[in-house]
Amino acid sequence: MSLTIRGYAAQNATTPLAPHNFTRRDPRPDDVVIDILYCGVCHSDLHQARDEWHNSIFPMVPGHEIIGKVSAVGQAVTAFKAGDMVGVGCMVDSCQHCASCAEDLEQYCDEGATWTYNALDRRDGMPTYGGYSERIVVSHKFVVRVPEKLDPKTAAPLLCAGITTYSPLRHWKVGKGTKVAVVGLGGLGHMGLKFAKAMGAEVALFTRSPGKEAEARRLGADQVILSTDPEQMKAVAEHFDIVLDTVPNEHDINPYVATLKRDGTHILVGLLGPLDPALHTVPLLLKRRAVVGSAIGGIKETQEMLDFCAEKGITCDTEIIPIQQINTAYERMLKSDVHYRFVIDMATL
Ligand code: NAP
Ligand code: ZN
Repeated sequence: MSLTIRGYAAQNATTPLAPHNFTRRDPRPDDVVIDILYCGVCHSDLHQARDEWHNSIFPMVPGHEIIGKVSAVGQAVTAFKAGDMVGVGCMVDSCQHCASCAEDLEQYCDEGATWTYNALDRRDGMPTYGGYSERIVVSHKFVVRVPEKLDPKTAAPLLCAGITTYSPLRHWKVGKGTKVAVVGLGGLGHMGLKFAKAMGAEVALFTRSPGKEAEARRLGADQVILSTDPEQMKAVAEHFDIVLDTVPNEHDINPYVATLKRDGTHILVGLLGPLDPALHTVPLLLKRRAVVGSAIGGIKETQEMLDFCAEKGITCDTEIIPIQQINTAYERMLKSDVHYRFVIDMATL
């Protein structure tokens, strides 16, 4: 007997999301069944619902910033019990035996991680469906504990926007005195500012939107640079150790690379696709600069990030919406009109 679930789905790349019933598998021995309370709205949801990455499986139930309460567990599960407040992010499974999985880097699984939606379950081959729904069934290895100190409403976006910015800042050893600039003040960007600040960095924001300055300062920026103003860009030439680039679309990264010091690193987490205009290599060679990418974070690090947030009192700035407003939320996201993450209250389903 599989579970019938209510949710919201995209039926194809061009029609708005709408109510959709579907089934989830019978819980396996290692599964946790979660009643979803809140689900954040990531720009990746929009990219995939509109098939912008050309790999969409329809119907698609997006959502990978999931917070809910455990309602049941399989007999092999000991770490969770009914009533626990838990989270699920972008992955629901991985091979569990490759070198990356052995290092708690399931997102880089050699055989490919199983994504929370728009993927096929590696054990039964059935499509995975995400958090814009009332309930999810997930292997306990891909469930994290939400510390009591965190409010579930504001914690949901930590499961993707949070870990995607936390992980590279840790990997590239951001600490006291590191000069970090975040590009783009949206869901990921606002968490990048908060984390970089909490790690002791000097923090700047590059934005193309005039009028975000006061907000950016409130969120942790010591400096705000309007990226469309060549004079402001010139004033920070060779200034930063790290540029964390969250821009979702094609954009010219050459002007940002010029703001890196010798040995500085431009980390791409937003764009999935070729750079256009192309990257000029001379400024890399002459200053030993690096342009790198980073994908979310492993499950162990996601737990560490949640615990860090609880300890430091870090939350996401969210706008709670009923699920019926999801299509409007997508349109507002495209206009950079997000402050700074939409979160769906699943009770409205
Ligand atoms: P978002 O909330 O829409 O924020 C993106 C921000 O980038 C905007 O607020 C805007 O900030 C800036 N921006 C947007 N379009 C731009 C353009 N054409 N040129 C320059 N700046 C632009 O998006 P998000 O949810 O933070 O996601 C950002 C990207 O990260 C998405 O592409 C998403 O798919 C990707 N992502 C990657 C990972 C990963 O593992 N690497 C994980 C999650 C998401 P300003 O107005 O301040 O300029
Ligand atoms: Zn995401």
